[in-house]
This record gives sequence, structure tokens and C-alpha cells, in this order.
Amino acid sequence: RPRVLSGMQPTNASLHLGNYLGALRQWATMQDEYDAFYCVVDLHAITAGHDPAQLRERTRVTAAQYIAGGVDPERSTLFVQSHVPEHPQLAWVLSCITGFGEASRMTQFKDKAARQGTEATTVGLFTYPVLQAADILLYDADMVPVGEDQRQHIELTRDIGGRFNSRFGETFVLPKAFIPEATAKIQDLQDPTVKMSKSIGGAGLIEMLEEPKVIEKRIKSAVTDSGREITVDPESKPGVTNLITILSALTMRPVGQIVQDFEGRGYGDLKKEVASAVLDTVIPFQKRVRELLDDPAQLDALLATGAEKAHDVASATLRKVYDRVGFLQPM
Ligand code: ATP
Ligand code: MG
Repeated sequence: RPRVLSGMQPTNASLHLGNYLGALRQWATMQDEYDAFYCVVDLHAITAGHDPAQLRERTRVTAAQYIAGGVDPERSTLFVQSHVPEHPQLAWVLSCITGFGEASRMTQFKDKAARQGTEATTVGLFTYPVLQAADILLYDADMVPVGEDQRQHIELTRDIGGRFNSRFGETFVLPKAFIPEATAKIQDLQDPTVKMSKSIGGAGLIEMLEEPKVIEKRIKSAVTDSGREITVDPESKPGVTNLITILSALTMRPVGQIVQDFEGRGYGDLKKEVASAVLDTVIPFQKRVRELLDDPAQLDALLATGAEKAHDVASATLRKVYDRVGFLQPM
């Protein structure tokens, strides 16, 4: 079976609808066809300041959301990144064959650094795509299911992996990004020209673990436009287009069908239907998360089993890498 790997940062307690539609839901559908590895990438969550107790809690909550979103720890390898020490070990080696200019071109870094200012931006945030490359290359992943924002990082992963292979001999499988177009980019409700993002936060986010009442309110106050037509046009109607995208993804109704159904109706009607579709997904999701968090010891045990399976694969890859690079094998 071909292999997939993906992960999300536990930077917030709750995932948002973009994470769910753009990534998590795909993960669940890929479990049978692929040998799947899904990790909570906690090492990535400390690049911009964090609270230790909160991080620990958020890591558990994120794992619980993977399971609530359909990841089955029996069929997939579900683990926490920091439980497998090979991730930062490989990242160091890869950082030594990554160009400074090459890393400087990452638009995620440029955007986040611009938001934070240079002094507040860490070296860790800068090198995070190299750690991400290690996350993927360690497992010989063929496919990486992600949102559109990650395309450039997967390209970088291929570049670095390919460079290692040509310099030190065939070692890594070069992964392909898997980005289903329909849900590749869920936009912020308040500023529909930017992607919904944990690190931006605010009222433009639909958080999977938020009170249903609050979710409803946020959808009803989503920014639209001064027109009245319900049509798809990302340029002039980004807000309405985003709402149609969400409704289509959640109900599996084709976009064209939705546009037809809403002919002659107003934005209020559209928002009402979006809200009800979101709540239909979110309410059972929240119930399952609560159940899982009721027994943290069992959740931790599942993660320990996953880490063991992940470590078997990762340690074999790292051993090969260390040997190819020319590190003296310890006796
Ligand atoms: P941050 O702002 O801290 O980077 P994030 O919201 O981008 O957080 P990540 O943990 O970086 O979340 O990403 C997890 C997964 O969700 C990735 O595969 C990413 O591509 C996907 N994703 C994130 N935001 C969206 C979005 N708005 N639409 C679709 N997919 C998304
Ligand atoms: Mg991100």
C-alpha cells in the first residue's frame, strides 16, 4: 500500500473548519487505500510563543479531534511528533543541505513574520519547513494530504529530498501533495480574501469545538458584499463564494446545484443553511471529543502505541541517513 503522512499543529485547542474540510476529512477517507501516518505536530507549535500546560492539553485535544474526525487508531498510525526523536534529528541534517535563500522564499514564513515583526520572529519559525520536510521524508510518504497553503512546503520537501538523494545516494521517496481542489482553501468569514487560520483567530474562524450558538452567530455575521446575487466569483464575491464552498463540501451538493437552488433568494437564507450544515457536523464531533477526553489515560495509551509504530519506521530511515552522510556508527 502506498503511504500517506500528514499533521496539524496544536496551536489552538480547537481545529477550525478549514483544517477539518481541507485536511482531516481527507485523512479519514484515505485510511484503507493507504498506509496512513497522522501526527500531532507539537514541535511546530512552539515556534511563536506558547504556554507549556496549555500545549500539553491542546496536544491531547488535537489527537481527540483526529479520532472524532474519523481517524481510526487501529487502522492508521496516530502519534505525537515529539514522541519520535528522529524528527528533529533528521531536520538538522536536512537544514545543512537547505539554502538560506531557498528557505527565505517560503510565503507562510514571510506572511507570519510580517504579522509578528522581525524581533518577535524566531529562528524556529524560519526553519519549520525543514522540520516539516523531515516529518514527511522519515516515513517514505508517497502522498501528503494538505490544504493549498502547504503546497510550497511540499515542493521544498521534494527539492531537499531529491538533493539528498543525488548527493548521498537514493534514500528518500519524494512525496506528492494531495490537495482536493474543492476544499483546498476555506476563507476567513470576516476577511474572505485570506485563509481561515488558527494563528489569525478572531470572529472569522469557525472552530470545531466552539459553542454551537457562537458558531451560528459567526456564520450569520460573515462578511458578504453589497450585491444580492448568490453566485460563485472569488474575485468580486469572495464571502458568498466561501459560504457556497462550505455548504457544498458539507452537504456534498454540487456548487452549480446550490447556485440554482438559491436563485432569487437572499444572503440570509444562504447563511441559515450554511449554519445548519455546519452544526450537523460539529455537534456529533464535539460529543465524540468529549467522550475521548473523559478518559485521557486511554488516549495517551493509544498515542504511545502509535509512537512505537512510528518510531520503528523513523529510526530505520535515520540510521540509513546517518550512514550515508558519513557519521561514524556507534559501537
Ligand atoms: P497556523 O495559522 O498556526 O499555521 P493553520 O490554521 O494553518 O494554523 P495548520 O496546523 O498549519 O493550521 O494546518 C493543518 C492543515 O490544515 C494543513 O494541511 C493545512 O494545509 C490545512 N489548512 C489550514 N488552513 C486551511 C484552510 N483555511 N483551508 C483548507 N485547509 C487548511
Ligand atoms: Mg498553517
